[in-house]
Amino acid sequence: MLNIFFPKLCWGCQNELLVNEVEICTFCRHQLPLTGFLEIDKNDIHKLFYGRVPLVDATALFYFKKNGLTQKFVHALKYKGATKIGNEFGKWLGEELCRKDTFKTVEAVVPVPLHKRKLRQRGYNQVEGFGKELASALQVPYFDDVLVKISATKSQVFKERVTRIFSQEQVFSTQNEQKIENKHLLVVDDIITSGATLESCAGKLLKTKGVRLSFASIAISK
Ligand SMILES: [Zn+2]
Repeated sequence: MLNIFFPKLCWGCQNELLVNEVEICTFCRHQLPLTGFLEIDKNDIHKLFYGRVPLVDATALFYFKKNGLTQKFVHALKYKGATKIGNEFGKWLGEELCRKDTFKTVEAVVPVPLHKRKLRQRGYNQVEGFGKELASALQVPYFDDVLVKISATKSQVFKERVTRIFSQEQVFSTQNEQKIENKHLLVVDDIITSGATLESCAGKLLKTKGVRLSFASIAISK
């Protein structure tokens, strides 16, 4: 009944959704700019991380452009509480991932974490639905208690005059390392831009013995 008065709208085009459509209408599904990365041996993510992070494989579902269609969905996922968008994209990519040999050897999915203050503000990590669907498609566990985001310490901040540089710096740390020892991990994020976030996470994860890494994101900026 509620739908008659408050019809659910597609986050991409604002048209009314049909009963079988979740957050994304069929028209927008066909308009979203797929990267096709799973078919490409040395895709843009491999190129971006070449010499920075050793990777088993890496992929992103869509291209992301300012004011483009992908941005509308990522924005809704991040700021409007439309968490199901992440699940939809995760199911979409998950179906493709489990057909590629390099991803079949993944043993756990690890999300890029939010700082706990940010998590409290937003109420959810926007990459959770996406990551959990990938884990379920690959039939591996989802570990959100291995990688944590921490703040730069006060002493670091006060040491430097340019405190802004420190407050923007991404600082990650690992815990429960025994869970990831000797494992091939798929690290998931929403958007890859400069690659700084994933590089920073990878640096920490690779300190644990025998860890190998792959990356998957919803989108990569173009
Ligand atoms: Zn639409």
